[in-house]
Amino acid sequence: MKVGFIGLGVMGAPMAANILKGGHELTVYDRSAEAVARLVQAGARAAANGREVGAASDIVVTMLPEPQHVEQAVLGPDGVAEGLREGGIVIEMSTIDPGTSRRVGDALRARGMELVDSPVGKTSEHAATGTLTLMVGGNPQAIERAMPVLKCMGTDTYFCGGPGTGHAMKMTNNLLATTIMMANTEALAIGIKAGLTLELMQEVMRTTMAWNQQLAVAMPKKAFLGDDSPGFAIRLACKDVRLACEAAEQMGFEALVGRGAQKTMEEAMAQGLGDRDTAAIMFMREKALGIEVRQQPAEALKKAA
Ligand code: NAD
Repeated sequence: MKVGFIGLGVMGAPMAANILKGGHELTVYDRSAEAVARLVQAGARAAANGREVGAASDIVVTMLPEPQHVEQAVLGPDGVAEGLREGGIVIEMSTIDPGTSRRVGDALRARGMELVDSPVGKTSEHAATGTLTLMVGGNPQAIERAMPVLKCMGTDTYFCGGPGTGHAMKMTNNLLATTIMMANTEALAIGIKAGLTLELMQEVMRTTMAWNQQLAVAMPKKAFLGDDSPGFAIRLACKDVRLACEAAEQMGFEALVGRGAQKTMEEAMAQGLGDRDTAAIMFMREKALGIEVRQQPAEALKKAA
């Protein structure tokens, strides 16, 4: 199949590489020339804009930071819709709000094209191994045609319903995952400042309702090791929560927990941490409170007990 890919960042680059490995012809575009050059080295063809990607492809994948980038890349001047043939499909895999997803999909359908929404779950490691979770929404026939491309990138596929439902699922998922992460950093920082050790808190919380995947899996791999190298950038996590809070407002209520998480991340961004992994939120708190929330040797736990 002739496939196009726009947005070759932390997630998009390994996802595009897996489409190549799947045996498809690939044409790519990113506003970063270096990002394009890396994929060209792996066997892709470079395009100068979205229109050229569309013209060279049956199916175009978009993996961009925010809703406005998707609108611009697909519907803007020199966008994908100007090049893609009738019957062509855009697979939108970024985390954007369901409203934008439906609006872009409607505009494509008015031109005889289709949009399948398939935002992704898990991490850049899973993007590299082609084992992402895919949250798929759209018209069933278009989804069926998109499946050979989707299969190159993910293993756990969930069909969420009609257009926009994949993005609704992802937005809901990330509101929860990110607010849990922010709550963890707040609680652990308070605990350490109050004289507890991380090991003791982990041990106790493992037996209570406080236990969660961020605490069990994500934080021991990054935050507790002092590692905030790019993985899931704070600016993106903040965008996800903001989109969910805005959607809540449109539904007529204020998502106060989400707004608190958003405020925390905006504080980090104001300190220049926007491109760092969400682990950096913990380091911001450490600095403010004069503490360290790091993994200690096992003996420390025995001592604390
Ligand atoms: P990123 O910032 O690393 O990459 C985005 C890429 O898009 C960059 O290479 C940038 O140059 C390019 N770009 C931006 N605007 C463009 C435009 N108008 N035209 C062409 N290229 C453009 O982001 P990422 O971490 O790869 O995330 C991409 C999307 O996936 C986001 O919506 C994010 O929220 C979501 N997501 C990220 C993760 C993660 O762990 N990083 C996990 C799941 C979902």
